Amino acid sequence: MSLKIELSELEDGPLELTGSVALSELQIGELDPLLHADRRAEYHIEVSLLDGKLVARGAVELQMECDCVSCLKRFPFRVRLDPWEAETDLVSEESADKDQSSADLTPILREDIFLALPQHPRCRPDCDGLKSAPEKPTQTGSDPAAWAALDRLKLD
Ligand SMILES: [Zn+2]
Repeated sequence: MSLKIELSELEDGPLELTGSVALSELQIGELDPLLHADRRAEYHIEVSLLDGKLVARGAVELQMECDCVSCLKRFPFRVRLDPWEAETDLVSEESADKDQSSADLTPILREDIFLALPQHPRCRPDCDGLKSAPEKPTQTGSDPAAWAALDRLKLD
């Protein structure tokens, strides 16, 4: 299900909409292999017609999982767009010659969610990856070969 609004439903005034969009429909998971977006984005918005535009206001929330770029651990990540505002012109060049009966907010939602996502997701802000992983070699009695291996990893 996408976030498509039938304009005829707005003739009597603003409309409150609550629902969800599958993140797979928004193709979020295809943007970055570190993102595991198999859930849904929940929205609660009010849509209205204003000066030839479709205007949406409300909140969008979603839960996904990311792989930490540092330690590769998978961790939950929550995105909350509140307030979320979107508007789309109802008369665009492509639609000028036909009677537009619906407007699709899905591309705008996709863009806004994408902008809210971490580009380099980390399980916590100060995660420095392999150095602080639980299985790190103890500093005492360090094995030079192990440290050399770690150094090589860090260069990657
Ligand atoms: Zn991490």
